[in-house]
Amino acid sequence: MKDRCGVYRVRHVGADINVRVYEIVTFHPCSRLELVMEIISLFGSLNEEPEKPEEPQEPEEKKSGFFSRMKQAVTRTRESFSQKIEGIVAMTRTVDERDLEELETALISSDIGVQTTTEILDALRERARRKAIEGGAELRELLKEQIKTILEAPQKTVVTPAEPPKVTFLVGVNGTGKTTTSGKLAAWSKEKGRTAMLCAADTFRAAAIEQLEVWASRSGVDMIKTKQGGDPAAVLYDAVSAAKARGIADLYVDTAGRLHTKTGLMDELEKMRRTAARLIPEAPHEVLLVMDATTGQNGLQQARLFTAAAGVTGIVLTKLDGTAKGGIAVAIARELSVPVRFVGIGEKMTDLLEFSAEAFVEGLLG
Ligand code: GDP
Repeated sequence: MKDRCGVYRVRHVGADINVRVYEIVTFHPCSRLELVMEIISLFGSLNEEPEKPEEPQEPEEKKSGFFSRMKQAVTRTRESFSQKIEGIVAMTRTVDERDLEELETALISSDIGVQTTTEILDALRERARRKAIEGGAELRELLKEQIKTILEAPQKTVVTPAEPPKVTFLVGVNGTGKTTTSGKLAAWSKEKGRTAMLCAADTFRAAAIEQLEVWASRSGVDMIKTKQGGDPAAVLYDAVSAAKARGIADLYVDTAGRLHTKTGLMDELEKMRRTAARLIPEAPHEVLLVMDATTGQNGLQQARLFTAAAGVTGIVLTKLDGTAKGGIAVAIARELSVPVRFVGIGEKMTDLLEFSAEAFVEGLLG
């Protein structure tokens, strides 16, 4: 550190956010050359490369924000789940068969279901046979791994068509959240920098068209509609034509709530598929079954029949925010072999998360 007649030898003792802190150790008089050498030895060559700027932090922040939103969404499921398994995962001794049986009962009584639990436990027993599981912490990690593997198994890459639009149908029974999810998805596309359009093909439920119209204006996208009671295939035809002509990337089609047992409605859906395919041979590119997480295992049976009849390619699990039955996501992946693509975590436009097995498992057991 420079003085008119010499050099202070200083020692780096710490750092504030922007300021380095030095402590004066010695002081000795010196020549100008010595002074320059001292400065170089203290602060490095003047020709040294400037320090590289730090990598942008945003993706990490975005990731942690996403993980904490998922964790928040599964709060009730996590609480109910950890109550059931807290005794086992707190253990410090080697895990034995009785502990595994206790875990089995806990998993079955959550909405993971019998079939999926059996598969998880078989894998854990096999692991315990090969190598002892040294306590609850290890068991928790193994359980997380098992659940993640099951959740990731049916994930399919979603194909983006060469030519826009990508047509996505939202199907499911009334009240599961199809209209809400259609609106959220349009906003999600826009957030990703894509153009989107909504098609109000639920001409059956009173107020569905008006409800979707509100979502269209909230998310700032165009919507194609007809009057209530109109032909859904006809409005779909108009929407696909308009999306094609305008080069819209994503077309989301809100369909009427139907039960797998209602042949009339299922036939109508089939007619809609044919209509879309007439304009774009691979359409619909995605058929998302909207499932209400609060229905737990009951919803699963319905979804099973739906999946077979409606060519479902993915699941949107809604209302995850208000239920302790989030374990159903694991049963869906295992028993339907269909990936969970999104989860609904509230009623606001941004309350939709793209599903991530890792974030879900961390939220549940992390
Ligand atoms: P549709 O009949 O399938 O079109 O269902 P709607 O979109 O009309 O949704 C039915 C109800 O569920 C509405 O009150 C929505 O606000 C609500 N809803 C939809 N998704 C979610 C969600 O993820 N979380 C919560 N808490 N409510 C939701």
